[in-house]
Amino acid sequence: MNDLTGKNVLVLGGSRGIGAAIVRRFSAGGANVSFTFAGSRDAAAALAGETGATAIQANSADRDALTATVAAQGTLDVLVVNAGTLVLGDPLELAADDVDRMIDVNVRAPYHASVEAARRMNDNGRIIVIGSVNGDRMPFAGGAAYAMTKSAMQGMVRGLARDFGDRGITVNSIQPGPTDSDMNPADGPMAATMHSFMAIKRHARPTEIAELAAYLAGPHGSMITGSLQTIDGGFGA
Ligand code: NDP
Repeated sequence: MNDLTGKNVLVLGGSRGIGAAIVRRFSAGGANVSFTFAGSRDAAAALAGETGATAIQANSADRDALTATVAAQGTLDVLVVNAGTLVLGDPLELAADDVDRMIDVNVRAPYHASVEAARRMNDNGRIIVIGSVNGDRMPFAGGAAYAMTKSAMQGMVRGLARDFGDRGITVNSIQPGPTDSDMNPADGPMAATMHSFMAIKRHARPTEIAELAAYLAGPHGSMITGSLQTIDGGFGA
């Protein structure tokens, strides 16, 4: 149904969690996958060995390193910007530098990577960013800066969809709700609170997010662009 055979795919932030599930799904679908990581060298090497994908160390917070990495992949069919960080806490207490580092990874990097990829992307290519339902709804205190970064992605995908639409390139955001990962473990201290906001009261599995990414990247996704694809068990309903 979703033939990714021969597609050249770069996943930014693919060593763990949702990104790793996307690397596995796209590799299983026949794509040629490369993925970046920041610090998790062992996890990245293990995933590369398991899937045949290529692991590249590149910090998304370093704009020049990031854009050079994207450019070095040549002609891409699919870019998935998954790398993201989460800084939660009282805005009066949070370190400004920590907030700015999150903005670098969650906002600046998706924009510059998407533009760099589009310079040489094939017609009918795909740009997929991993946003969050928190771009729409932040139902607890301490998440203002994180929610701000994910809302910023919404404007980016709407605008870039129009910039690249004449080449058939689609640009979309997947907006997960709570999803089991190192960032947000299903058995973590916040789990019960998060489930209280949901219609389906469990964390998503990273594979469920990866299936949506594969759909958007595949041939059936060709008319979906400028959209926010929320997959959150009703967190935002
Ligand atoms: P994890 O923390 O489990 O994994 C994050 C991945 O991103 C890792 O592969 C990590 O690499 C990579 N990464 C982080 N920072 C950088 C960086 N500066 N440069 C390169 N790679 C980096 O997170 P999740 O899988 O949970 O989250 C993935 C995305 O999904 C994020 O954008 C997050 O905001 C979003 N999201 C997650 C939700 C959840 O509940 N889990 C809900 C909604 C959205 P390394 O291993 O090297 O550190």
